[in-house]
Amino acid sequence: MEKKVCVRCGKPLPEKAEKCPECGEAVLPEDLRCPKCGSEKVFAISGLSKAATVAKWGIFSIGKAKADYRCKDCGHRF
Ligand SMILES: [Zn+2]
Ligand SMILES: [Zn+2]
Repeated sequence: MEKKVCVRCGKPLPEKAEKCPECGEAVLPEDLRCPKCGSEKVFAISGLSKAATVAKWGIFSIGKAKADYRCKDCGHRF
């Protein structure tokens, strides 16, 4: 099986890591698809924009900021 590495910093990732322990970049599940259109062209919204959301809306927005994938085809966020 192929070892997963972080898309941002290239460090190896633990088996079920949701984000990189090194830089905090979100890790995409291998079989991730858009729940709306089924497209595989899904990308993680960067930790940076999420941090900005938290800075803007405060700690209570963290649950909301969990929707952090975006479909390139239909623009759906999930
Ligand atoms: Zn990383
Ligand atoms: Zn989609």
